[in-house]
Amino acid sequence: MNRTNILVMGAMLACSIGAAFAGEQAAHPHWSYQGKTDPANWAELDQANSACKLSKEQSPINIEERHARKAPLAALDFNYVGGTAEVINNGHTVQVNLPSGNALKAGDEVANLLQFHFHTPSEEKINGVNYPMVAHFVHKSADGKLSVVAVLFKQGRENKTLAPVFNALPAEGKPNQLTSFNPADVLPVDRAYFKFMGSLTTPPCSDGVRWQVLKSPVELSKKQIAAFRKLYKMNARPVQPLNGRLVEASE
Ligand SMILES: [Zn+2]
Repeated sequence: MNRTNILVMGAMLACSIGAAFAGEQAAHPHWSYQGKTDPANWAELDQANSACKLSKEQSPINIEERHARKAPLAALDFNYVGGTAEVINNGHTVQVNLPSGNALKAGDEVANLLQFHFHTPSEEKINGVNYPMVAHFVHKSADGKLSVVAVLFKQGRENKTLAPVFNALPAEGKPNQLTSFNPADVLPVDRAYFKFMGSLTTPPCSDGVRWQVLKSPVELSKKQIAAFRKLYKMNARPVQPLNGRLVEASE
């Protein structure tokens, strides 16, 4: 299997199917964040998860700002138009699936937004510190490459854009529809970012994923964070070794 196929499969497994799909569970044993199937054991659960242990470019990472190299990175151009979105609970997180037509451009690279989903606390650390939550916006290019944009959340005012999601967080197998939802409204105004190569943060941990972590957090209320934590108390993989990877910071 070539890398592209692995990436595409990885994206499907990590993001789209989830525990609601019974056949998938039989083929790929259950994984979790705590207990015997926690992140330290993911590679042992299934041969398909070997990258979780063997890959040298795993996500998430701790970003030390003073070690990030300032670089003239391409501006992130979010051409999101929105539409009718579907909110699902896949047994690992709550995920918002978007219709096609929401593109991210960065220089010559174009990728289509598939979905975004949440982790608590934020998987990525900045200068050793987590945020209460993060959203990962997962994009795929025409040649199958994955590009993830992370939007960090700090506690503050109610997030009105995400209120329809957090007011009715779905149970497994009971998706909600959101009409006229534009994911662009979730993004911070300031698009400065950190960039590095990494992986999916869930099994099978496939690498070759381009990561862009937006520096500027957006707000969620205490109540919104609590609503998510009622479903998922903790769904964050610990930070992984950098192994000499370059982290760049937009100027
Ligand atoms: Zn994620």
